[in-house]
Amino acid sequence: MSEKIKYIDTDQYDKEVLAGGKVVLDFYSTECPPCEALAAKYEQLSLMYGEDIKFLKIFRQENRALAEKLGVSGSPTVLFYNNGERTGDVLTGGIKRSELIKNLDALLPEERITAIKAGIKPRETTCDLLILGGGPAGLTAGIYAAQAKINVLLVDIALTGGQVKTTHMVSNYPGFKEPQPGYMLMHYMQEQAVAAGVEFRQAVDVTSINLQKKEILIDNYETIRAKKIIIATGSSPKPLGLPGEKEYRGKGISYCATCDAKYYEGKEIILIGGGNSAIEEALFIARFASKITIVHQFAVLQANKVAQEKAFANEKINFLFEHEPRAFIKRDNGDMAVVVENLKTGERTTLETRGVFVFAGMQPNLDGIKGNNDLAYDKWGYIQVDDLMHTNIPDVFAAGDVASKPLRQITIATSEGTIAAVQAARELE
Ligand SMILES: Cc1cc2nc3c(=O)[nH]c(=O)nc-3n(C[C@H](O)[C@H](O)[C@H](O)COP(=O)(O)OP(=O)(O)OC[C@H]3O[C@@H](n4cnc5c(N)ncnc54)[C@H](O)[C@@H]3O)c2cc1C
Repeated sequence: MSEKIKYIDTDQYDKEVLAGGKVVLDFYSTECPPCEALAAKYEQLSLMYGEDIKFLKIFRQENRALAEKLGVSGSPTVLFYNNGERTGDVLTGGIKRSELIKNLDALLPEERITAIKAGIKPRETTCDLLILGGGPAGLTAGIYAAQAKINVLLVDIALTGGQVKTTHMVSNYPGFKEPQPGYMLMHYMQEQAVAAGVEFRQAVDVTSINLQKKEILIDNYETIRAKKIIIATGSSPKPLGLPGEKEYRGKGISYCATCDAKYYEGKEIILIGGGNSAIEEALFIARFASKITIVHQFAVLQANKVAQEKAFANEKINFLFEHEPRAFIKRDNGDMAVVVENLKTGERTTLETRGVFVFAGMQPNLDGIKGNNDLAYDKWGYIQVDDLMHTNIPDVFAAGDVASKPLRQITIATSEGTIAAVQAARELE
């Protein structure tokens, strides 16, 4: 632990934090993966900024009253103070090094920032296997590789868990009689990977990726060189590309029911889509919303029969078939409106609603990969692989949703992660 970090409790808060000077305070908890992901960054930054800024940590569980008084409801939460006054952002969850640096820099004069940055020594790390992405594919690959005694490092731009982390319930992953909350399933996988010996870099900015050299730069600070790379960066909801969508994303338009359904208690919402994810998420949203109108381009749903039957039996769920959205509008009172077109008649109508959920297919996560590297892709933009998950670039594999295939599920992602890791391990031998 860095000498520049001091642990305090509620009794010391006034003296250590409010008495003056520049202070950063981390409310942490135990058994808290995001806190662990932050700890290394916090420690490293305390060595850089510790002469100018006081780095403090306080155990949230034992200092609850203070945390509540300061509006801290989760761990980790990082607060910044200048001469006893709160300043800067309130950082929570998967906190990035760049977010910390931005707020630390804001406390200091320009010449100190320049001097501190001049003293930064870039970090260099080598490993046998580098895994990009910590969803089911990446974590499974990590478990297999680490258990084969391979030195493996897993990098994720967010906290690990992938899409499943925000999936309300998973009922088709083998081994569990009852449906499992997605975040628990991923928690188990993460714990297993940690126990196997996988090293992690979570909530990082991936500055550059060079697949040919098997070298990446993260946080513009740490270069990681590997003998093999597995790309397991998954996929994300595809935006519809309609007027108003980008503008109101997160402000009335959501792509994640688990994250946002709770904000629509007793409210009416519109859901775009008709596949499995759309219908399963509609059933979840129906626990909160008073009415859901599903707008779907075809005359029938594409979801599996069980999900369809549940949706048709749910009194809150209504259907507008053979319609497509054309634009999103935000009303002055915060409500949303969706312009929809009848695909048979071409007639356009405007539907009023409180919020919109979009489940209209997925796209591969290839930020920093596509364009800079000579990977081969299928016609939908997913990475082409052979039976052993090799890409066309030597020593580079792809697994899970990001790889080309007809079906994307957790079981498939874990299987492909397994194949890629076992094959990489064989080749490393
Ligand atoms: C709403 C919804 C419900 C679903 N329900 C089910 C279900 O019930 N059962 C089922 O089997 N499947 C379900 N799925 C599908 C399932 O979630 C995916 O098939 C599975 O998560 C794919 O795993 P993955 O590891 O390939 O990718 P992901 O889960 O997408 O994980 C990818 C990880 O890579 C990280 N990442 C992205 N870009 C980078 C980068 N450049 N560098 C480093 N890391 C990066 C991401 O932060 C993420 O953590 C559902 C999907 C959705 C959207």
